[in-house]
Amino acid sequence: KDFRNNIKPNWCPGCGDFSVQAAIQRAAANVGLEPEQLAVVSGIGCSGRISGYINAYGLHGVHGRSLPIAQGLKMANRELTVVAAGGDGDGFAIGMGHTVHAIRRNINITYIVMDNQIYGLTKGQTSPRSAEGFKTKSTPSGSIESALSPLEVALAAGATFIAQSFSSNLKQLTALIEEGMKHEGFSFINVFSPCVTFNKVNTYEWFKDNIVDLEETPDYDASNRVAAMTKIMETKSLVTGLIYQDKSKKSYEDMVTGFKPEGLAKQNIQITEQEFEKLVAEFK
Ligand code: SF4
Repeated sequence: KDFRNNIKPNWCPGCGDFSVQAAIQRAAANVGLEPEQLAVVSGIGCSGRISGYINAYGLHGVHGRSLPIAQGLKMANRELTVVAAGGDGDGFAIGMGHTVHAIRRNINITYIVMDNQIYGLTKGQTSPRSAEGFKTKSTPSGSIESALSPLEVALAAGATFIAQSFSSNLKQLTALIEEGMKHEGFSFINVFSPCVTFNKVNTYEWFKDNIVDLEETPDYDASNRVAAMTKIMETKSLVTGLIYQDKSKKSYEDMVTGFKPEGLAKQNIQITEQEFEKLVAEFK
């Protein structure tokens, strides 16, 4: 069960994404997967390279579209554990429509966002997660927009699993990804993953000083949606740990009717040549 491959990541030394890669590899091994039982689908951005750095099925998709691909993959082969991954620009700007609808659909995949609050691949522009006043090449006088709170959005969209972690806390990050993989529904995990090259504000030290870990609140009840929203707002979205989980809701693929329990890839679909031609003609 070795999820490492021999491809050397070309992330900058110290980039938070290294820990996310390691955590996915460890979590997959810990839940007992074999490499052929895991698929990692990513979008565009520095973080999007992650699908090539894990010994599993991997697909480096197009910008903001990791989730449609990952959902289709899960429906086609439900035996796969599917992880979608990308950055905050990928998931919360161009891909935000997909993010919200995948969350409310509750399809059984795990979505990991490497949130560094800047666009790294294009050399440092303001992202939807950048704070007001944040200065970059695209906002030299400071951003006049307020930062998006993905945790609030996820909760409002009906998420059944919301967690947040930090690249420096590999133990917690691995455990949360494991829980996400085991969750019967859509699991959303936002990870503070510092961009050491372009974001000189939200550094490892900054996160260490500002994060509020739920370990400090032992009586916190992750099944309480109101408490989850309160905690997110109280901490200005800097809370880490398992923030919310609803185990009662069925996943999309368990609810959809008219489908056989096995994925399309596993079904023996009998179709004549004429029927196939007719089907293809409908899409021309
Ligand atoms: Fe990581 Fe930033 Fe370097 Fe991209 S530019 S690899 S996000 S440190």
